[in-house]
Amino acid sequence: MRFDVVVLGGGPAGYVAAVTALQRGLRVALVERRYLGGECSNWGCIPSKALIELGNAVGLAKSLGRYGVSLSISAVDKSKVLKHVSRAVVKAREGVKYLLSDAVVIQGVGRLKDPHTVKVDGEVSTELEATNVIVATGTEPKTVPTFSFDGERVIHNRHFFELDSLPNSMLIIGAGAIGCEISEALAQLGVEVHLVEIMDKILPEVDRDVSDVIHKYLMRSGVKVYTSSQAQFAGYLNNEVLVRVTGRGGTTEIKVEKVLIAAGRSYNTSDIGLSEVGVELDNKGAVIVNEFMRTAIPNIYAAGDITGPPLLAHKAFREGLIAAETIAGVKEPLPRGPIPMVIYTHPEIGFVGLNETQASRAGVDYEVFRFPYVALGRDSTSVRPTPEGFAKLIIEKNTGKILGAAVVGNGAADVIHLFTLAISHRLSVEELRKTIISHPTYSEVFSEVVSEASGKPIHIPKQK
Ligand SMILES: Cc1cc2nc3c(=O)[nH]c(=O)nc-3n(C[C@H](O)[C@H](O)[C@H](O)COP(=O)(O)OP(=O)(O)OC[C@H]3O[C@@H](n4cnc5c(N)ncnc54)[C@H](O)[C@@H]3O)c2cc1C
Repeated sequence: MRFDVVVLGGGPAGYVAAVTALQRGLRVALVERRYLGGECSNWGCIPSKALIELGNAVGLAKSLGRYGVSLSISAVDKSKVLKHVSRAVVKAREGVKYLLSDAVVIQGVGRLKDPHTVKVDGEVSTELEATNVIVATGTEPKTVPTFSFDGERVIHNRHFFELDSLPNSMLIIGAGAIGCEISEALAQLGVEVHLVEIMDKILPEVDRDVSDVIHKYLMRSGVKVYTSSQAQFAGYLNNEVLVRVTGRGGTTEIKVEKVLIAAGRSYNTSDIGLSEVGVELDNKGAVIVNEFMRTAIPNIYAAGDITGPPLLAHKAFREGLIAAETIAGVKEPLPRGPIPMVIYTHPEIGFVGLNETQASRAGVDYEVFRFPYVALGRDSTSVRPTPEGFAKLIIEKNTGKILGAAVVGNGAADVIHLFTLAISHRLSVEELRKTIISHPTYSEVFSEVVSEASGKPIHIPKQK
């Protein structure tokens, strides 16, 4: 069978590439070894957010007592909780299947035999002739020293979201976005959670003032957080795992039903014939591409997680789109604008561009402006307010150029996109001041921090 485009992998990068190529009138085949939707729909973005929604709903219900509305949560049915999660997964997966109705979708493991042939091993093995190939094979979960995945008690995200029931206790290794999000949701749902991080703070991607807010909220929700600590497998005990956690204060032994490892990913680029056909990889195994997602071999493109960090679904979507459009003859490179990132804890974090640590490492002369959530009308109306939250804007001193922004507080996942738009279009603080934002909304942190940066703060006193 001959196709204009053969896409390898049906995750966010692969399916968006396929849909875009179809829209441009190309004949498309997509090869997927497991489920359409990839990591994101099946074991990542979608199930984690479904779990977080439930955790947040419980958190909200618990907070209502303070306002005279007493709700009692008599029980959390730990198996039913995961049914909500799997319903969301199936809906997402079916949605992708529907979008690909006009593509030839082949179930199996694909591998490049040569630059124009993809060999598929599945129930039916076949070879596909391809004018162009888009490789979007994503990543695999990595383990940490002394632990090996057994799929039952020492697990990764895929095992976790396929459990029949939530465990009563869990130790999570890695306090990045995934570790923090899952920890908090589980703690709200009544699971005993231990979160172990080798670095001296949680959430390495954000500045300490931002991660400190989340650290406090995690502890308030009942998560036991161990920073500057290393977890070591110490054996199986009946139905539990014994873990030795060594930190500044010494060693603690913790018994849990499950250990979830959320400490990094490795690229799916080694066994699919890439190097053999001449595609270049960097020293970490990520595929080297240009701004049109083209690899060293002109008819082979790569998109999504396999092109390197940040490992995010919206980056994958865009790269898949650019690869397919390039094949269709559109000459539009990958936008240079920064990629925002959201962490779906309570409160949420949104950040974009440089953080303070990166700005100071880069030797940039910068200024920081902060607007606190305590001064934000909308937050004070919330029954789950986040008064420790703030928006922070980082500006280059000489030029007034916006380098980056971070928001931690209610609504941050959406508000951050105002800053993203501003940075992508290189708008100055004076230009941004012309925008009127509705009151009372969380988006007002944007106009407030911008007013502050322009020297004309409204809702907080000007610092002398
Ligand atoms: C728990 C968790 C939560 C996350 N939450 C978020 C979030 O909230 N927001 C966000 O932006 N990102 C999130 N991510 C990251 C996001 O899931 C990834 O960035 C995204 O899925 C990458 O898309 P991709 O298409 O590059 O790869 P993948 O989604 O990994 O898809 C690759 C596909 O290729 C298939 N494949 C691999 N090899 C072959 C082969 N040889 N033949 C055929 N098929 C093959 C795989 O089965 C898979 O379906 C999360 C990740 C995890 C683990």
